[in-house]
Amino acid sequence: TTVLAIETSCDETGVAVVRDRQILSNVVASQIATHQKYGGVVPEVASRQHLATINGVIAAALGESGLAWAEIDGIAATCAPGLVGALLMGLTAAKTLALLHNKPFLGIHHLEGHIYASYLSEPDLQPPFLCLLVSGGHTSLIYVKDCGHYETLGQTRDDAAGEAFDKVARLLHLGYPGGPVIDRLAREGNPHAFSLPEGQISLPEGGFHPYDSSFSGLKTAVLRLVQKLEPQTPELPTADIAASFQETVARSLTKRAIACARNYGLSTIAVGGGVAANSGLREHLTAAAKAHNVRVLFPPLKFCTDNAAMIACAAAEHLSRGRRSPLTLGVQSRMSLTDVMTFYETVA
Ligand code: ATP
Ligand code: FE
Ligand code: MG
Repeated sequence: TTVLAIETSCDETGVAVVRDRQILSNVVASQIATHQKYGGVVPEVASRQHLATINGVIAAALGESGLAWAEIDGIAATCAPGLVGALLMGLTAAKTLALLHNKPFLGIHHLEGHIYASYLSEPDLQPPFLCLLVSGGHTSLIYVKDCGHYETLGQTRDDAAGEAFDKVARLLHLGYPGGPVIDRLAREGNPHAFSLPEGQISLPEGGFHPYDSSFSGLKTAVLRLVQKLEPQTPELPTADIAASFQETVARSLTKRAIACARNYGLSTIAVGGGVAANSGLREHLTAAAKAHNVRVLFPPLKFCTDNAAMIACAAAEHLSRGRRSPLTLGVQSRMSLTDVMTFYETVA
């Protein structure tokens, strides 16, 4: 099954052609440089930029794949969750192409794409498995039962892991996006220089929630630490702060993912989302998984952050099961992963 997919949920214009789990082309036009001067993504600017670049990116992706439209079985686009204006650009382009070339159209949930990023490098991976999804907007432990069938076992109660990286980077004056800068800086710092609190969710019956997390308290603790140190030192020990922060996040995510996999009897953890690129998380989780005899899969860096290849891969899975979306499907800024099957009707 060969799919051309478009991803425009945030600040990356991505188009890819994928045949089952094999990437034939994967083009990403990043808007990061445009948004950097604002310190974050500006939704209206993102939509306009998608509109300006999308036709060129579609042509490049199809050209690189070496295929003609006749060889494409379906056309997909991310339809939720994300920035509404940005999503509309990709979804409208995909519907138009589907009509023009008389192909099935599929709307794809962005987080489902992050889950399927692992399929691109692991051709043998099959459900059931656990997905640790750690991105700019989400931090979840997802029980992947089958294509389209998911259960969220744990999630953050406040900030997402990537959001925490971005906010801490901002208060250390490191710029946007924060994850890669903190990751780089942390390598030069001492991860045990400062003891920072790991956010925990108390349960009414006592004890703590084993899978849910919280990162807003950690972010506040870093802020207090910076406020305390600033008058005392001529130069902030940013590398030590970055390393200590990263260590706390990595430990927290590792503990929850391992506990969840063990309690549900899942022998594989597939990690997805931008924070899957983090070297501290990779180290901690790899070591813990080895100790507990769990297989852990990290996609290559370019499939961790937003790209259309992961969306195409998810779409190929759905399409091969005879699913397609009506052309009346709209975009949604928020949408639970457990509702993805509402996007599809099954054609015999
Ligand atoms: P969502 O998928 O939840 O809608 P998103 O698409 O914006 O959010 P991604 O593109 O998957 O998120 O990931 C971007 C996030 O990943 C940013 O918060 C960024 O700081 C973080 N990130 C990227 N690289 C790293 C890294 N090496 N270490 C930690 N965080 C990172
Ligand atoms: Fe994403
Ligand atoms: Mg992004």
